[in-house]
Amino acid sequence: MSKLPAAPEPLSSPVFDSHCHLDIMVGNRQASSGDPVAQAAQAAEASVHSILADARAVGVTRLVAIGYDLTSSRWNADAAAGQEGVYAGVAIHPNEAHAATPEALAEIEELARRPEVRAVGETGLDYYRDWASKDDQHASFRAHIEIAKRTGKALVIHDREAHDDVLKVLADEGAPDVVVFHSFSGDAEMAKKCAEAGYFMSFSGPVTYKNAHYLREAAAVAPPELMLVETDAPYLPPVPHRGKPNAPYLIPLTLRCLAEVKNVHPDRLCEAISANGVTVFGEW
Ligand SMILES: [Zn+2]
Repeated sequence: MSKLPAAPEPLSSPVFDSHCHLDIMVGNRQASSGDPVAQAAQAAEASVHSILADARAVGVTRLVAIGYDLTSSRWNADAAAGQEGVYAGVAIHPNEAHAATPEALAEIEELARRPEVRAVGETGLDYYRDWASKDDQHASFRAHIEIAKRTGKALVIHDREAHDDVLKVLADEGAPDVVVFHSFSGDAEMAKKCAEAGYFMSFSGPVTYKNAHYLREAAAVAPPELMLVETDAPYLPPVPHRGKPNAPYLIPLTLRCLAEVKNVHPDRLCEAISANGVTVFGEW
């Protein structure tokens, strides 16, 4: 049986989780083989309801449930339709880009038009994993950019070791009105480039990792009006829970780290991020 980390001290101002994988957390999906985090999350058998209740108990009142393939996107869109405080993102993940056929992309666009779906993502480029070819990834990323523009939804980007190419494709294709770099992984230079372009930066658990100075330097220069916070749960749990399954109720640990880096009261940062949430995902 998997032990879930203890709940952190509640936030005194509400905030939301801009990116999590609700379907994987509830174990709706088969855990991918050799992925201990996903398996642990599945073993926890947490229901959507208890995930939300745990989150709300510490001031994390809303979340965006992000899809990574057709099945996942459908599941998260349906979950968002039935739950107050839950929005969805729909996309084919760059690691699955070979599956981004015209038919699959047409269904993603159809899902993206639903009112409870507020983002097209996660899409982007992943040069760390070679599960999909660069050509497939670029074609899929460009197609998702167009879907975001046609549907008027935020574009949520997965950028792993591909900063320059992600920026290049966005500039070349023409970025949608709202762009979010999910689990921001760049340094201060990259944060400045994103800020100049008006792109949102969503910080996740790794900003709390001891050796991740570059992420804290990025957070330090990111303008509060372009910052978001996320878990990417069940992945990337913040310190001191590395190696355990992540969930939205652990957001306060990452939020407090960011507030310390920014030298602001956590309440002020929660207020800024909540306001950004309306800009990015619309009224909740
Ligand atoms: Zn993700």
